[in-house]
Amino acid sequence: MRYLSGDEEKKALAYIAKAAEAAKGATCERAKCGSVIVQLDEIIGVGFNGPPQGLESQRRCFYAKDSYHKKVTDKTCCVHAEQRAIMDALKKSPDKLFGARLYFIRLGDDKMPSKAGKPYCTICSKMALDVGITEFVLLHDDGVGVYGTKEYNALSFQYGAGGENAAFSSVGYLADSPQNSN
Ligand SMILES: [Zn+2]
Ligand SMILES: [Zn+2]
Repeated sequence: MRYLSGDEEKKALAYIAKAAEAAKGATCERAKCGSVIVQLDEIIGVGFNGPPQGLESQRRCFYAKDSYHKKVTDKTCCVHAEQRAIMDALKKSPDKLFGARLYFIRLGDDKMPSKAGKPYCTICSKMALDVGITEFVLLHDDGVGVYGTKEYNALSFQYGAGGENAAFSSVGYLADSPQNSN
């Protein structure tokens, strides 16, 4: 992961603001999240989180995560903002998805963008990697962090597995991370 600075950071913050705007449409009762996917200064996908198809009958926001059998692979309630943004891009601009950058933001209780912790959503990390998104952007306490998607996926699976060093040493993503490949 690398932190952006200068004009790069300014631009990224503008896209994070777009993602925050999208998050206002979120219908999940647990969290309001938004995501935009950008390729060559063009937003090619937008999403917010909510029940599948917006169906109230499929809403699972109030189910406890430990109420599911361990074989249930996804214990989160709604379709994630990143998933929605990816599906949006697949429908509208599938040819522009490869090499794109995904921005994600979660709104706090005050409806303002909130700072993200370490990556942990393996549903979205796998999906973003599979469709060819190259970078995943989160707003952290120390600034705008850009992850290579392979790095993001590896870190997500290692969430809580013994700190930064443990995460960095176990999977060989470094050769693919943006700061090394550019
Ligand atoms: Zn929900
Ligand atoms: Zn997710």
